[in-house]
Amino acid sequence: MPELPEMEAWRRQLDEPVAAFPVAKAGPAHIATLKTFDPPLAMLEGRRFRGAERRGKRLLFPTDDGEVVLLVHLMTAGRLRFVPAGDAAPKSPAFRLEFAGGAQLVLTESGRKKRAGVWLLTPDAAEVELAHLGPEPLGLGPERLGEILHGESRRLHALLRNQHLIAGIGRAWANEILHAAKLSPYALSSDLDDEEVARLAAAIDAELERGLELREHGASDEQTYRVHRGLGEPCHVCGTPLAQVDFEEHTIYYCPTCQTGGRVLKDRRLSRLLR
Ligand SMILES: [Zn+2]
Repeated sequence: MPELPEMEAWRRQLDEPVAAFPVAKAGPAHIATLKTFDPPLAMLEGRRFRGAERRGKRLLFPTDDGEVVLLVHLMTAGRLRFVPAGDAAPKSPAFRLEFAGGAQLVLTESGRKKRAGVWLLTPDAAEVELAHLGPEPLGLGPERLGEILHGESRRLHALLRNQHLIAGIGRAWANEILHAAKLSPYALSSDLDDEEVARLAAAIDAELERGLELREHGASDEQTYRVHRGLGEPCHVCGTPLAQVDFEEHTIYYCPTCQTGGRVLKDRRLSRLLR
């Protein structure tokens, strides 16, 4: 799933082109993709976007007259593309916007399950839709992070991915951040001391900035991730083969030397716990 670095790189790329021309035709949209019907999509036609904004992992396209906001959540397999005028566009995307002049904004989703979503909302309704999200992780700082960590006792990997607490980090960047902070994914948030909180705050900024810079330059997953999906590869810090463990519905990747004092983490899949 694209996370903050990927979505922010996309936002920067889309900001100018989506505002260049008014929308000529909004839709069609797959019935499972379009989550709202009022206001109707046709309301976008003839209006121009102010640009692209982002909140957590979601992209927002407000119209420049302040009337409506198009909100896009790509989930795991959704992909948003800007297709310049004259270029070939996908034939039956999950959602399509055509601009005056012929350029298109197209959402596609691989696989049969349609999970990505598009909402057309008034600015007030958009605020309500986003109200459950925690603060943005970039620049969060040790003080605010400390309050979140000590506010409830959760395992660090799960806490970082919880969008209600911090919005924008998923499993890939949680792996990268915890490795950079030299903290166990299973450590309890309430157990962290001030020095560990400061280390985690610094790692959040450093890793997300690193990811954003790489993604802005078009880096692939392999070029971007140093820990995520790296089972058996040498840790880039100490050379120990990276390990993996299943936790809830996710696979966590970590370095046993850098992060867990040599301990191998135990499987905590939900399916296993329920047996
Ligand atoms: Zn290591």
